[in-house]
Amino acid sequence: MADRGTAVYFPDTLGELLLLARREPDALIYSGGTFILNQRVSRFADLPPAVISLQDVEELKRVSRSERYLEIGAALPIRDILALGRSNVPECLYSALRMIGPAAVASLATLGGNIAVPGRILTSVPVLSLLDARVELRRQGSSRWLAVSRVHKPNGNLELAESEVITRVRIPLQPWSVEVFRRFGSELAPESEPLSFCGLARTSNRIVEEIRIIGSAGLPAPLRSRDVESELVGRRIPLAERDIATAVEVYQTLGTGLTPIQRDRFVRLVQWFLLNLPAS
Ligand SMILES: Cc1cc2nc3c(=O)[nH]c(=O)nc-3n(C[C@H](O)[C@H](O)[C@H](O)COP(=O)(O)OP(=O)(O)OC[C@H]3O[C@@H](n4cnc5c(N)ncnc54)[C@H](O)[C@@H]3O)c2cc1C
Repeated sequence: MADRGTAVYFPDTLGELLLLARREPDALIYSGGTFILNQRVSRFADLPPAVISLQDVEELKRVSRSERYLEIGAALPIRDILALGRSNVPECLYSALRMIGPAAVASLATLGGNIAVPGRILTSVPVLSLLDARVELRRQGSSRWLAVSRVHKPNGNLELAESEVITRVRIPLQPWSVEVFRRFGSELAPESEPLSFCGLARTSNRIVEEIRIIGSAGLPAPLRSRDVESELVGRRIPLAERDIATAVEVYQTLGTGLTPIQRDRFVRLVQWFLLNLPAS
């Protein structure tokens, strides 16, 4: 796997990992390796002089669930997250994770690796952002929490500081009346004009109590309008045609760099979601 001259470290504990990450600040963090190896242009991966593998760090593979949160270790394979079952993972996240690669890829690919690809918004990120998920970032002697929606700066770089590693992902558990995830194309293939959509709504007695909508074309610019979301709160279901039309007008102008197909897909999905809100 390694190029000649690449030192590959296999820490066994989180403590060892953080120590190594501090000693080797330029090291590549290698989780499942499915994205890293997929990017290689020749038979061998072009690896930097130091690589730190997360594969033996059991602390990064833990899962815990309370009434309020689901916490997933950053290096837990996506296959193992799906094995928790639909009843233990928010429906929209479950649907998004099921899209990631064939089984052989999902058995290696991790949630941390899905979030931490510079310059690309991969499948789980818009959904985790909409769910208000946060990542724990650790480096030796410090730890902090950061919203998944802020991990990618608008210029595509990651908000991670030197030697910082994502250790877990904390996902708030909230009751939603409807959770929808749809994806066209693949974020790994820009020529497929990828577009993913996630919509969440909580409704009661024909009234919208909360609604969140996001789209992503795989770029570090999410298609989301909190203004529209707040405007829709308190509206009666079915929504009035003019409310839907006003919302759609806003969504039509969000984001830059979308192809006409991506924009059309997004706007149609928004329209369909708003037209089909459940009454309770
Ligand atoms: C056939 C195929 C199909 C795929 N389909 C999809 C798809 O549909 N959707 C999709 O989103 N992806 C897809 N992928 C890409 C990839 O499998 C996933 O994005 C996967 O989740 C990446 O996780 P990983 O653990 O393999 O990351 P890695 O390849 O190990 O790492 C990816 C990046 O994240 C960084 N990183 C990893 N873990 C951490 C951490 N804990 N802290 C800080 N930085 C970290 C690494 O340094 C690297 O820059 C596909 C890949 C293949 C080969």
